[in-house]
Amino acid sequence: MRLGRLSFLLTCLIAASAFADDPPGADSLSDRIAEIEHVHIHQPWPVSQRMIDALEPELVDASTEQRARVWLMEARNLMLDGRYDEGLELLDQVLARPVSPARRLRALELSVNANYLIHNYDRAFDLMARALGLFPDIEDARQKADALTLVSRLYSDVGEHGLALESAAESLDMAKGTGHARTIYNSIYSLMLVQRSAGFAGFALERRREIWEHAQQSGDPVAVGSAMTLIGSVYNAAGRHEEAIGWSRRAIERNRETGFLNGELEARKELGIALLNTGRDEEALPILTELVEQFESRENWRSLMEIHEAIAAIHQRSGRFGQGLQHLSRFRDAAERFNDEQRARRLAYLQAEFENQRRNQELELLRQQKELLAMREETAAAQQSTRLLGTTMLGLIGLLLVGLLLRFRADRRRYRRLSEIDGLTRVFNHRRFHHAVEESLAENRTRGKVCSLVAADVDLFKQINDRYGHQAGDQVLRRLGALLLEQFPAPCIVGRIGGEEFAIFLPGHNRLQAHQRIGEFRDRIRPMEFNGHSIAVTLSFGLVESRRESRLEKLRARADHALYRAKRAGRNQVIDAADLGAF
Ligand code: GH3
Ligand code: MG
Ligand code: MG
Repeated sequence: MRLGRLSFLLTCLIAASAFADDPPGADSLSDRIAEIEHVHIHQPWPVSQRMIDALEPELVDASTEQRARVWLMEARNLMLDGRYDEGLELLDQVLARPVSPARRLRALELSVNANYLIHNYDRAFDLMARALGLFPDIEDARQKADALTLVSRLYSDVGEHGLALESAAESLDMAKGTGHARTIYNSIYSLMLVQRSAGFAGFALERRREIWEHAQQSGDPVAVGSAMTLIGSVYNAAGRHEEAIGWSRRAIERNRETGFLNGELEARKELGIALLNTGRDEEALPILTELVEQFESRENWRSLMEIHEAIAAIHQRSGRFGQGLQHLSRFRDAAERFNDEQRARRLAYLQAEFENQRRNQELELLRQQKELLAMREETAAAQQSTRLLGTTMLGLIGLLLVGLLLRFRADRRRYRRLSEIDGLTRVFNHRRFHHAVEESLAENRTRGKVCSLVAADVDLFKQINDRYGHQAGDQVLRRLGALLLEQFPAPCIVGRIGGEEFAIFLPGHNRLQAHQRIGEFRDRIRPMEFNGHSIAVTLSFGLVESRRESRLEKLRARADHALYRAKRAGRNQVIDAADLGAF
């Protein structure tokens, strides 16, 4: 999933930024910006960034539009450098100014992409709705076609396959009208991707020649490699594994030549799966095994699931049941992570959808109210009874409006709450924990209060899973979650920040007080009963007290370091970062 998104981010960024602007020669500043825009598309990002830095002094005289053009490039550069927050800040600045609709759409697109990548799904969907709202004001069909590919993939990711197919088809229609190979390529790519995800691999397959031709016409080697990868995966999905093998092998080569690592990994996965499906197990095994680490480090849960499942099948066919079982359990872990992400995305989408519906309902009711008022004026001279009817209806509509608003608000709150809580342990999920702690930290900082952060990791949890099964492991996590919530009520903040890793934020607690609280928590951990077994559970803790200037990342790193030392020192203990000296 992430892989798909990353490669998509790139194609979208490259394509949409190709709208170099003012006619050359308009004035020298515009010329120089246009020159940078050209470099920005065709060269690695640090090159254009250096040019932007050099241009900075001259921007004092820049128009809003010119400044926005530069900011858009800078934002994308920041994002390619992984500095999403800074990139988003710049985009917000563009959006806060009266720039042209085309520029605004571009800023929204980039912002949707970045928010999506940092798992800020509610914001991403909200911005997507705003981007769609701009369409009537945009004339450039290329830009609209590209934006629609983004929309279709987001829909596809949240399981709205009908809407995804619709937007992709609309995008392709528009793209064809432009006759621009690169734009058409992007649209076909999206359409095939969402067709495949929606279970229509057969339809996707029918477009293989079309995408292949446009990829070549686009003159972009990365597009050619991506098309090959996609064709291979579609053949696989359609059950034609021999063809998938051929295309995937070529895709691996081509992606390697262009240095597009994500494309290469994806193609290797498809090759492994195709080999497995044609009975060439021993050839498939090393290919798939090598990929595990790659997908793990990229947190690409969906591909990781596919790979563990495939490896498990191979082991089982050869009678290596132990190894097979091991991969099935890792498949399960990946599936859980994938489902968590999927759930957060789906909920964010529903929430944004509710927002939209509410807005539309509100508008519709206001319109009706206006009509009624007009009607009432018309009939003002008429009979008393008509007037009474009008007033009654007006009142009813008012009531309806209030009722609807209340319901939408309650639903929205419920969705927001659900998307912030970890399904298994009921504590905050990673994202929410992070936000809540940032807030509390800032507030306590202004009030001059110290806080403490504790990282807690279950000891030898893998053994619990191995000995008693995953369900027992889950049960242990569930109980720990409940106990943590009980022991650390608000204003303390508890989050699950990894598989079997929790974090506890204690506002207003210095290190000694935090020590005390952790001690009380540890005293309350009892062996847990599961299926007649009594499972002993211990945790290791890393504790850190905030200094006045502490940032959360820094605190996290120091708490993790202390936790790591607690593990090394034999587990089942608390280590205070302050006792470890400078770090
Ligand atoms: P250490 O004391 O060094 O932390 O050892 P450990 O075994 O706890 O650490 P390791 O990181 O090697 O293993 C953690 C295991 O937790 C791996 C993973 O399979 C398992 N795990 C992660 N999330 C879940 C979950 O949600 N449920 C279950 N049952 N297991 C999980
Ligand atoms: Mg552990
Ligand atoms: Mg761990």
